[in-house]
Amino acid sequence: MIEYEVISFKSLDMSEHNEKIYDIAIVGSGPAGFSASTYASRYKLSNIVFGKLLGGTISEAHKVCNYPGVSDISGLDLGMNFYNQAKDLGGEFKSEQITDIKKQNDTFVLTSDNGNTYVSKTVILGIGTNRNKLNLKNEDFYLGKGLSYCATCDAMFYKEKRVAVVGGSNAAVMAASMLSDIAKQVYIIYRGTELRGEPVWIDEVMKKPNIEIIFTTVLIGLEGEQKLERVKLSRAFNGQETLDVDGLFVEIGSEPNVDLANKLGLELDDKKYIKVNSDQSTNMPGVWAAGDCTSASNRFRQVITAASEGAIAANSIFTALKKGCGSTEIY
Ligand SMILES: Cc1cc2nc3c(=O)[nH]c(=O)nc-3n(C[C@H](O)[C@H](O)[C@H](O)COP(=O)(O)OP(=O)(O)OC[C@H]3O[C@@H](n4cnc5c(N)ncnc54)[C@H](O)[C@@H]3O)c2cc1C
Repeated sequence: MIEYEVISFKSLDMSEHNEKIYDIAIVGSGPAGFSASTYASRYKLSNIVFGKLLGGTISEAHKVCNYPGVSDISGLDLGMNFYNQAKDLGGEFKSEQITDIKKQNDTFVLTSDNGNTYVSKTVILGIGTNRNKLNLKNEDFYLGKGLSYCATCDAMFYKEKRVAVVGGSNAAVMAASMLSDIAKQVYIIYRGTELRGEPVWIDEVMKKPNIEIIFTTVLIGLEGEQKLERVKLSRAFNGQETLDVDGLFVEIGSEPNVDLANKLGLELDDKKYIKVNSDQSTNMPGVWAAGDCTSASNRFRQVITAASEGAIAANSIFTALKKGCGSTEIY
């Protein structure tokens, strides 16, 4: 049985700084954040979502075929659907990055990158993860000059060109599949011995005549004068230790962004994901977390689990706030 801190509905509607006090401030504009907002609005909890990438990471996916009820949709459209539904139900949205959160008495004060401050009774962190970089010399120099972290965003620049994808996960396999419809030749460079994506996507990649997989090979260098011209490999492929490419797509996973969690003093697991209880509450009263940034859902990080965790967090907050009103009834 989880004990909630009692948070009173009777607490002020306006702070001494004359700011509105939201029931929930939701940091993160992905499936977890917008799902939390949708449920919060249905519970008549005032809520505001923060994030600069509308729809979150899924908006970068070329195609989503595994979200139940929607057989085939682009990631961008799915992300927009999440946003539109949350907005239509009354959730507020600010295209701002939250840079600081502090607990002040019974409320939280959130500061955004443009200096605005917002006050809320509770917080949900749905901040997702950050894409891993190769950590190679000149990586930043080549960004936008042949190097990309988003195949969906940049694939069209490589029509009839030679491109490589680094990685062997689902995201890497999906990126290679999409690129193969646009580019002339696609290489997958992977340090492992077999791809790790969903079998359906792997089957698709195996059928493409213009995809070649370079296994047990690590990408160790980036070369080119003004833009990326070739990549250096840890072992020879077709007798060469370099591979000429016009574009390189980096799909080597992601890791949690711990800044806000650390600022709040949240407990993290051994891989730095936010530890949550079954109701998505964290170790800090008043703070919940949902989606890819958490240790929940058996670490199965997908749209469906992020949306589910966002809904659970909103429901738990509703219960906690109701308790503050002297009622434990949800419906
Ligand atoms: C290429 C690719 C393809 C994928 N395909 C699929 C698929 O087919 N099916 C599927 O189910 N899943 C897929 N996924 C995984 C899916 O995108 C994630 O599991 C899902 O987006 C997680 O949702 P989230 O809301 O937890 O986090 P995210 O979607 O990552 O959203 C978090 C948001 O929070 C924002 N944020 C972070 N910090 C702050 C801050 N301080 N202030 C304000 N905003 C902040 C971020 O900018 C981001 O927009 C794919 C992922 C990738 C990369």
